[in-house]
Amino acid sequence: MLSEAEGYDLLRKYEIPVPEYQIVKNGEDAATAAEKMGCPVVMKIISPQIVHKSDAGGVMVGIGSKKAALGAFTRIIDNAKAYNAEAQIEGIMVEQQAEPGLELIIGGRTDPAFGKVITFGMGGTMVELMKDITLRILPVTDEEIRQMIHEINAYPLIAGYRGSKPRDEEGLVRIIQNVCRFFEENENVVEFDINPLRLYESGACAVDARVIVTDHVHKAERKEHPPVPLEYFTPRSIAVIGASQDSSKMGYAVMHNLLHFPGQLYPVNNKRPEIQGLKAYPTISAIPAPVDMAVITVPAVNVPSVVEECGAKGVSMVVIVTAGFKEMGPEGKALEDRVVQIAKGHGVRIIGPNCLGLIVPPRGIDTTYVHQSPKPGNIAFLSQSGAIINTVVDWSLAQNIGFSNVISVGNQCDLDFIDYLRYVEKDPKTKAIIMYIEQISDGKKFMEVVSEVAQSKPVIAIKSGSSRRGSAAASSHTGSLSGSYEVYMASVQEVRGHCGTHADRCIPCSTDACPPQALPPRQACGRHHKRRRLCRALL
Ligand code: ADP
Ligand code: MG
Repeated sequence: MLSEAEGYDLLRKYEIPVPEYQIVKNGEDAATAAEKMGCPVVMKIISPQIVHKSDAGGVMVGIGSKKAALGAFTRIIDNAKAYNAEAQIEGIMVEQQAEPGLELIIGGRTDPAFGKVITFGMGGTMVELMKDITLRILPVTDEEIRQMIHEINAYPLIAGYRGSKPRDEEGLVRIIQNVCRFFEENENVVEFDINPLRLYESGACAVDARVIVTDHVHKAERKEHPPVPLEYFTPRSIAVIGASQDSSKMGYAVMHNLLHFPGQLYPVNNKRPEIQGLKAYPTISAIPAPVDMAVITVPAVNVPSVVEECGAKGVSMVVIVTAGFKEMGPEGKALEDRVVQIAKGHGVRIIGPNCLGLIVPPRGIDTTYVHQSPKPGNIAFLSQSGAIINTVVDWSLAQNIGFSNVISVGNQCDLDFIDYLRYVEKDPKTKAIIMYIEQISDGKKFMEVVSEVAQSKPVIAIKSGSSRRGSAAASSHTGSLSGSYEVYMASVQEVRGHCGTHADRCIPCSTDACPPQALPPRQACGRHHKRRRLCRALL
């Protein structure tokens, strides 16, 4: 964490107004500094171990004279020592006292999937209590900055409330622009809080800065997405490698669900000449005709050689149902990387591993082991959880709801949400898309693709883990207020809006018994949870 002084210096470079300050090491110097600066002044402890200075009695405001500054020096040092005997005290900051103003917070954090995120809201010491915060993923446009300002519940306090004069909204826009530039240009800054930023009728002043930097700049994973031909998802022939006659095996269930496939189905098993009534082959190479897709259920260690063989055979897509890869740790990850390398060498594309695979009801394809295949329909369902697929498919049968595609994405070692979105976008049977997301790796690319797909087909994203907030022990307010769930929600809000009439209806949060209400575009509904707005027409 940079010291407050270093933070101020950085902000000043970006034309963000901060108070004049001086660092002193003894009471006499504090008194001289106070006199030079002009009272009243504020004095603050400087210690790397004291993050929240007020908690340690490390901030004194309204120091009105030389003498008071002398006394404050000792008092602050004593308070800090009493708070944490081990704390290294590097000195005391004497700074100009800013006029009282509306206390706001501007913060930033780095999300593992989406990168740099900017937050804005009501600041001061009660931010966690008020939780009146909004966020955007960088970069943001001026328009988005204005929307952020408008969407906090306390916006009337900026616009002018009950006879009070409006505050400098344009000045605030410029400051947020500058803060965004500061965050984007300083790669090593991973998190920061400017809290409070005092906003006046004219101008503003940042009176605290907490900036966290790193030596190891983490870059979001960037993957190539070579286009996947549509026909890869509509194979004419499928081989099941590891097909089984033993009903306790996965290779049995997979084979069983594929028996309705109207194309060519080839069980591959090196021990039996026949599986579930079909002629079996000892290896995929032994099949006397071309094979478009292979479903792999053999143990993880055998997967590399099987994929190699599929490549040699000219298979275009493999569905690796087998688990025991990246999800198992570094060894599994290495095995998975090997599989990806081999597949790449042959131009074979991969669904999975560690997945249920793919159900295309209109074409009688079902590589999963769900109890009963779903009916054909117009919804594409892309899910990161196999258990959710099982439940949803069961439920859909009872509700008479069909699917164009159900895809269990698994570890996404090759094809991922982005490729599947591209596929269902083009798939003529798909009219709407639902995703169940646990985690994505390249959030920026995801937003870009979802926004394109959402132009032509409605996309609904369900994000798991909504109760997991940012680390409670985070050293910045921003860290604890903008957990990954909030960032995911912001990413989907960004791309929403293809439906002009319905997209801005407010759905009451499940706990509040309050009726939905129409809202102007992208405005928060003050009474309800502002992030629960969804398009009713799409539900
Ligand atoms: P903390 O580490 O506890 O967040 P701050 O530096 O934010 O410490 O100071 C606590 C409070 O003191 C601020 O929220 C603000 O209200 C007030 N304050 C701090 N610096 C100044 C200043 N230069 N002028 C006026 N008020 C200040
Ligand atoms: Mg503060």
